[in-house]
Amino acid sequence: MTTVFKFGGASIKDADAIRQLTPLIEAHEDRPLVVVISAMGKTTNKLEALLAAARDESRTDEYRQCLDSLKTEHSEAMEALFGDSGESPAERVSALFQELDAQHRKHRSSPYAKHYDQTVCYGELISTTIVAAWLNRCSIATDWHDARKLVRTDSRYQAANIDWPTTAESIRQQLEDSDSVLLTQGFIGGTEEGEATTLGREGSDFSAAIFAHCLDAKEVVIWKDVTGLFNADPRRFDNAVQLERISYAEATELAWHGAKVIHPKTLGPLQEKSIPLMVRSFEAPDTAPSVIDAEQRFDADVPSCILRQDQVWLEVRPRNFSFMDEPRLHDILGRLVEAGMHANLVDSSAMRFALCLDDKPERLDPLVESLQGDYDVSRENNLTLLTVRHPQAGMMDELSKGREALAERRNATTAQRLFHSRDCPETWHIPD
Ligand code: ADP
Ligand code: ASP
Ligand code: MG
Repeated sequence: MTTVFKFGGASIKDADAIRQLTPLIEAHEDRPLVVVISAMGKTTNKLEALLAAARDESRTDEYRQCLDSLKTEHSEAMEALFGDSGESPAERVSALFQELDAQHRKHRSSPYAKHYDQTVCYGELISTTIVAAWLNRCSIATDWHDARKLVRTDSRYQAANIDWPTTAESIRQQLEDSDSVLLTQGFIGGTEEGEATTLGREGSDFSAAIFAHCLDAKEVVIWKDVTGLFNADPRRFDNAVQLERISYAEATELAWHGAKVIHPKTLGPLQEKSIPLMVRSFEAPDTAPSVIDAEQRFDADVPSCILRQDQVWLEVRPRNFSFMDEPRLHDILGRLVEAGMHANLVDSSAMRFALCLDDKPERLDPLVESLQGDYDVSRENNLTLLTVRHPQAGMMDELSKGREALAERRNATTAQRLFHSRDCPETWHIPD
C-alpha cells in the first residue's frame, strides 16, 4: 500500500537540508512511496514580492533584482549539491526561470489571482526538479511528476477547488505501482485548459492528503521542524506539550482556528478513507510522532491555545438608526464571500455587526471600501486573537490578565478573546 510523505519549505531550505532528506527516504523501503514537496524555504513569499514588482511598471529594476536573487539562491543550492557534475539539473532549472519570466510578461495585465497562479507555482516546480535530481544522484530511483496535470481543479485561482473524480483517475493512472519514488509538487494543480492553479498558502499538506485519498494510502507523514502537533505553537508558548494522538475533527478545529502546523483542508480527505496522519520531525526522526486519526478519546485531555496575529476588527453599523437585521447580515456576509475572506470571530447586536478578519490588504481593502459605501464602518488594526480549545476553569482569565479584550466569544469547547497586539507578550505561558 502507498505511503505519502510531505516535506515543507523548512525541510528543503538549502543544500544541507536537502541532503538530510536522503536518509529519511532511504529508511522507507516500501513502495509505492509518493513524496510531495513545497517550495524551498521562503521562496513563495519571494515569488509574491516578485509578482507585486512585475505588476508595477515603475518597479522593473526591483523585479530584476528579485528574480536574480531567487536564481542565485537556487543556483547556490545546486552548486553545493552537484558541483559541476552532469547530474546537475541547472539547465532545467534555468529553463523554468525563463518560463517564469515569460509568464510574468504574458500575465502582467491579467487579473491578479490568475497572474499569481501562473507564476507562484514555479517555486514548487523548481524545488522538485532539484530534489528529484538529488535523490537520483543518491541512487534512490525517483520519477518527477507535474502536479498541474495530476491535480485537476476549477479556475478559482489562489483557492482552487478539486475536481475529485478527474484527479483520482489521473493520479491512479499515472502513479501506478512503481519501484521508484514518485515525486511531485504540493500547493499546485491545473485546470482542464492547462492553466496552473494554487490551493491556498501552506496548501502542500492538503496536496499530500489529495494524493493519499486518491491512492487509498496506508498513511501520510508530514515532516516538520517540530516533533509533532503541540497544544500550542512551541515557538510562542514556553510550556507547550506535544499531543500524542488526536482526532481528525479536533485537528481540523485547531488548524481552522489558526494552528499553522497543518493546513485545515488536510484532514477531510484523510478522514473519508480512514488514513492516519503522522506529524514527524525531520530533525529528530526517532522521536515519537503525533498521530491523527478517527480516535476522539484523547481530544479534550489537554487544553490547546492558538494565536492569530495581524487581525483587524471591523464594526459595521447601518445608517439612520436602523436594525442590523437578517437582510443586512446576508448582505455583509455576501460581500465577505465575494472578497474571499473568512471571519475568525463575529459578534452582532441590534445596530451593529462586528467581524475579526486577517489583515490581508489585497482582499480587506476592497471589502472595507465596499462596506463604507452603504454602512458606517470603524476599524481597529494590529490585533491578536487568542483561541483556547477545551479551556479549564479560569484559564482564559489567567491568560488575559492585564490585557483589555476588544471582543470575546465562548461555547462548550472553545473560548476566544481579541487583544491589542501591543499588549501581548512575545512568549506566552499556558496556566496550570
Ligand atoms: P512547513 O515546513 O510544512 O511549511 P510550517 O512552518 O508551516 O511547516 O509548520 C511548522 C511550524 O508550525 C513550527 O515551526 C511551529 O512554530 C508552528 N506551529 C504553530 N502551531 C503549532 C502547533 N500547535 N504545533 C506544532 N507546531 C506549531
Ligand atoms: N509553498 C507554499 C507556501 O509557502 C505551499 C506550502 O508550503 O505548503 O504557502
Ligand atoms: Mg508551511
